[in-house]
Amino acid sequence: MTHPDIKEIILTEETLRARVAELGADISRDYAGETVLLVAVLRGAALFIADLAREITTPVELDFMAVSSYGSSTKSSGVVRILKDLDEMIEGRNVIVVEDILDTGLTLKYLLKNLASRKPKTLEVITLLNKEGKQRVPISCKYTGFLIPDEFVVGYGLDYAEKYRNLPYIGILKPSVYAD
Ligand code: 5GP
Repeated sequence: MTHPDIKEIILTEETLRARVAELGADISRDYAGETVLLVAVLRGAALFIADLAREITTPVELDFMAVSSYGSSTKSSGVVRILKDLDEMIEGRNVIVVEDILDTGLTLKYLLKNLASRKPKTLEVITLLNKEGKQRVPISCKYTGFLIPDEFVVGYGLDYAEKYRNLPYIGILKPSVYAD
């Protein structure tokens, strides 16, 4: 059953589950025999990290960061403030930053620079979604779930004004929902 505010489902629950399992298998293979620290950027990546962690067979630890990106709710400004920092030290550890969506890349670029200065053993990025052709700064992203068109999407952790995070699929909102 599709939510009435959703114009189109672009990734179904089954498609998401299958791809997250593949990503977990990739990470398990690449980090075999090592412990991985998954760092989710709240709040959008919360659902993704929970599912991803359960698909990884090598030991996994979890930590969380929260950042705020100034600007309107549907556009990235690139100005980032850390609202919640990691609880753990990451020096010498295998860190994978777990992102919900890579749009301009400005938020992630800032975060990666910040985390790299803490001297992890390895530092990689996994993003569930990547808006093709939208990156304004180059980001080396080792794992990508799906390339998607440049549309504002919600569901599976992603919100619009804090709504729709609990939708089990990812969809495009009806334009009428934005009308103020
Ligand atoms: P960037 O700095 O890469 O432009 O923006 C990254 C952040 O912007 C994401 O983590 C997410 O919070 C937000 N964002 C970018 N595109 C979308 C979108 O299509 N839907 C939602 N819900 N958030 C988005």
